[in-house]
Amino acid sequence: MKIDVVSIFPSYFDGLSLSLLGKARATGIVDLRIHDLRDWTGDRHRTVDDTPYGGGAGMVMKPEPWGLALDELASSSPSEAAGAPTIIFPSPAGEVFRQSTAREFAQREHLIIGCGRYEGIDERVFEYAATLGEVRLVSLGDYVLNGGEVAAMAMIEAVGRLIPGVVGNPASLVEESHEDGLLEYGSYTKPSVWRDRAVPDVLLSGNHGAIATWRREQQIERTRARRPDLLSD
Ligand code: SAM
Repeated sequence: MKIDVVSIFPSYFDGLSLSLLGKARATGIVDLRIHDLRDWTGDRHRTVDDTPYGGGAGMVMKPEPWGLALDELASSSPSEAAGAPTIIFPSPAGEVFRQSTAREFAQREHLIIGCGRYEGIDERVFEYAATLGEVRLVSLGDYVLNGGEVAAMAMIEAVGRLIPGVVGNPASLVEESHEDGLLEYGSYTKPSVWRDRAVPDVLLSGNHGAIATWRREQQIERTRARRPDLLSD
């Protein structure tokens, strides 16, 4: 999979060279490229923002650098078969990013992620991007961040770990929170007693049927307690 990210703070993404994703980049499973939006500006100050039409606080990202960036990146498909890219703009006004969204994006061959800053990107950029690929405005949750970088990193990590070969043991992807609409059960490791707290007996029993039943009950119980909205969906 090829992922092109456009940001005015490319060094935000340095952390994606670490751990499993870093390894996937080194082995070529994920071709992640971070681009500086200012490279598509034409003036001496490398300007990416301007005042909003209609007035109001803050600045808006200018459409011209975004247009040039998208033109260049959308035509850099990883393969003939890949077709048009999926162009993602992190936005608090977008659809909420879920595990199902991550699974959907993990099927794509080319993702372009455009990180907004200030009051956001000139609205016409989204319309124009739709002529180059499928556009998705995606929110990390119902709160406002300073920029799209943190949201982009969260999405890249959630999508990246679903790409075959990124996580060493694919079985560990199956029994996770949100994979079957429930939260995961609690996990324990050695020692069996720590600071007077014992691991539940059933996990030491060797009875795989009983362990599976206990874990399922745990999943339902904690989902009901912590995220009842998931049970009513
Ligand atoms: N004025 C915008 C609004 O009210 O919808 C918020 C702009 S925010 C300060 C700047 C950028 O941060 C956005 O363009 C977006 O890229 C990113 N951002 C902020 N909150 C986000 C969220 N919850 N999910 C994804 N991206 C977010």
